[in-house]
Amino acid sequence: MILPHRFTLLLATLLITAGHALASDNATTPWSYGKGASGPEHWGELNAAYEGCSQGSYQSPIDIRNPEKADLPALQFGYQVIEPFFVNNGATVKIQVPAGQTLTLGTQRYELQEVHFHTPSEEAFNGRRAEMVAHFVHKNALGQLAVLAVLLQAGKPSSAYGPVFAHLPRPGEKISVEGLKLDLNSLLPAERSYYAYSGSLTTPPCSEGVQWMIMRQTVQIGPDQVKAFRALFNANARPVQALNGRAVYVSD
Ligand SMILES: [Zn+2]
Repeated sequence: MILPHRFTLLLATLLITAGHALASDNATTPWSYGKGASGPEHWGELNAAYEGCSQGSYQSPIDIRNPEKADLPALQFGYQVIEPFFVNNGATVKIQVPAGQTLTLGTQRYELQEVHFHTPSEEAFNGRRAEMVAHFVHKNALGQLAVLAVLLQAGKPSSAYGPVFAHLPRPGEKISVEGLKLDLNSLLPAERSYYAYSGSLTTPPCSEGVQWMIMRQTVQIGPDQVKAFRALFNANARPVQALNGRAVYVSD
């Protein structure tokens, strides 16, 4: 029998690897996904460092409509089988991964920092969102971020994502499961075509210069798997942001 080990996190240590700021970290101002004063419409007013959330011109997520066909670089994954940690930082659940999980795009080499989840999907297509999305956050040697999004639609339960939904940690917890291995490649759809555009982090400080890639093919997860996540986070998705003339590309 496999037993999860639960222990409390020092939340501050999470900032080192997180592409996203923490809702409850002391060094930052608390923010939320709610309708109130700390909600997405007010993120830019909460802290000078969050100004980009309201003043930025190239924000994420976006609603994808009429993408332009383009010769985008192939995605070359150097993902491995890992022994994951599952972390709940109060804003999402993330899979903490060991170093060495690479994504190569032409001459650019990125390393995976974490995988985390939103419900519903932050990305919309002609105004419609999927039940969930997984964000694979990568960073290159210059510190530039590239985030790959895999949309998760309710349908057949996913055995690949099963271990994540079976071991969702409570807020502030970090879980490892003895003997559990996770093949990161199995979390990706078989088809490798994608949409691409330039945007931002979708949580404060909403920093821009993030390269976004959204897989065209979705992955199915079971309704009970969605329900398990929504028991922790009823909704943790930022509203879609104005395109402001940005081009959105789709691979040929
Ligand atoms: Zn995200």
